[in-house]
Amino acid sequence: MATVKSILTESRDIERAVALIQLGARLQVLEYETGLSYERLLRLYKEVAGKSPSKGQLPFSTDWFLTWQPNIHASLFLNIHEYLSKTSELEEIDTVIKAFRLYSEQMTASAIEPLLSITRAWRLVKFVDNGMLTLTKCSCCGGHFVTEPYQNRHFVCGLCQPPARAGKGSANGGLRLH
Ligand SMILES: [Zn+2]
Repeated sequence: MATVKSILTESRDIERAVALIQLGARLQVLEYETGLSYERLLRLYKEVAGKSPSKGQLPFSTDWFLTWQPNIHASLFLNIHEYLSKTSELEEIDTVIKAFRLYSEQMTASAIEPLLSITRAWRLVKFVDNGMLTLTKCSCCGGHFVTEPYQNRHFVCGLCQPPARAGKGSANGGLRLH
């Protein structure tokens, strides 16, 4: 017979899985973050999303987060995530969910297309946990941006120094990280 504790754990897992599916997470994220079986998650996914989950590998490389525009979005999300981590007692996956919702809301409010998906946001936090990526302060604007570890102190962010092909001003979509 299932104990009360296992019932509570399971209902929390289902709640998290549903929240993640609604945000568009890949099945692998659900498998990693919940104790629910693959079959159960698959059923839940079809029920909530109304379709089968997409197949294929998760993004494994840190490169995407370091390219110009994705970097600005990733940095915005990570700033929100860091803030929530410091100010709330949420478990990590719940912090990711909450931070991603806030990021999406900010994108909608600013009429900017959100480049970051929940799966990538989750992956980003894992990369930071593993010490493969970090936040570094821009020596120009003082904002904190996703970089590889050990950036030197003269690091300048992609908003202060956009690549030559990008028009300064409108291209940053009004994002500010400080
Ligand atoms: Zn800057």
